[in-house]
Amino acid sequence: MRYKDSVIRTCPICGKQAEPRPANRSFPFCSDRCRLVDLCKWLGGEYRVPGRYAGDDSPRGPPGDEDGEHAS
Ligand SMILES: [Zn+2]
Repeated sequence: MRYKDSVIRTCPICGKQAEPRPANRSFPFCSDRCRLVDLCKWLGGEYRVPGRYAGDDSPRGPPGDEDGEHAS
């Protein structure tokens, strides 16, 4: 087993190699610029998080832990 932290990550925005922390505080992005680009995507609603509703930030538990999806 290798250390997870030793895995080279690539920036999800531009695809360049992203240096790990603490050298790169924008990790997993290669730079502050790419981090902001990603942030703008989130704010613009480009990304969708399945199972999340507007105004609900609480993490969802495993299936069956909440009611609302009981198909009978
Ligand atoms: Zn980048």
